[in-house]
Amino acid sequence: MRLLVTGAAGFIGSHYVRSLLTGAYPAATDVRVTVLDKLTYAGNPANLAPVRDHPGLTFVHGDICDGPLLADLLPGHDAVVNFAAETHVDRSLSGPDAFVRTNVLGTHTLLEAVRRAAVPRLVHVSTDEVYGSIDTGSWTEESPLLPNSPYAATKASADLLVRSYARTHGLDVSITRCSNNYGPYQYPEKVIPLFVTNLLSGGTVPLYGDGRNVRDWLHVDDHCRGIHLVLERGRPGEIYHIAGGEELTNRRLTELLLDACGAGPDRIRHVPDRPGHDHRYALDDHKLRTLGYAPQVPFPTGLLHTVAWYRANPDWWQPLRHGDTGPAAP
Ligand code: NAD
Repeated sequence: MRLLVTGAAGFIGSHYVRSLLTGAYPAATDVRVTVLDKLTYAGNPANLAPVRDHPGLTFVHGDICDGPLLADLLPGHDAVVNFAAETHVDRSLSGPDAFVRTNVLGTHTLLEAVRRAAVPRLVHVSTDEVYGSIDTGSWTEESPLLPNSPYAATKASADLLVRSYARTHGLDVSITRCSNNYGPYQYPEKVIPLFVTNLLSGGTVPLYGDGRNVRDWLHVDDHCRGIHLVLERGRPGEIYHIAGGEELTNRRLTELLLDACGAGPDRIRHVPDRPGHDHRYALDDHKLRTLGYAPQVPFPTGLLHTVAWYRANPDWWQPLRHGDTGPAAP
């Protein structure tokens, strides 16, 4: 199988490629992977270091908005998995242009290139944030799209373009929407790595508002296993939720991180809430479970392993912090 994976020098895509090339998915034998990544601030070649010399890996430094490059690269690939995106909600409040460009125009450029090159399969990675906020219960794949941040709006726009290419052009494409991810190699602007690296550096952690916002946490390894299952067994034109089943308030998450880092509540710094901050996200993942999916990493174990990874790898995260210890929320 020849796969083109976009955005794989970032957090989740790199985990997916490392898993693919180290035999984590038994049915995926003889895999060759082309990684296409623009290497924005969030892309880091060090994320692929464990598989850098794997003969099945080719890295291409490039942009999903570059149609001619895609036209050159895509022929011969059996499938594309699209992780490439601008991903940090806070940045989408202060600088939304890059989000519209990559998340909307980039996805469209990729869809058009996949159609023209007749690539047999595409999986597009999206987010629960496209649904907005839900106080009780959980969203199904049929729930209305009501995004509240520019990030979420661009992801929802991309999802609608993907749907249109499935309906109009018969493209064999599935969409995945997942909960908040955590795990090693996550850029230290997102809440878990930001808080952990602040604490390990002797600093404080900025908690938004009253800390009562609720998020469902999904280990990156479970997320990638779900994506691969959708690649292999998902139906064309369908959307699949990938949930972690671990709902926590941000305050509770903060307490767990303080404990894991051996720090006390005096290290919490309260900061004004983010504008338009969604109260709660929750996904019904029944549809993917009928394909055999179940998350395998219990949150307490995954969190402790994640903290241990950041503790053991300051060389990875220290150059990325730039003294930026400000607000971050999932
Ligand atoms: P990330 O920010 O860590 O990585 C994004 C990668 O995309 C980077 O390597 C970056 O260089 C690359 N990229 C950005 N613009 C590009 C472009 N124009 N062309 C090519 N490459 C480009 O993101 P992540 O957390 O790994 O997220 C991956 C995907 O999963 C995204 O689509 C995101 O919306 C989705 N997602 C993430 C989470 C989460 O909790 N992290 C939750 C739900 C959905």
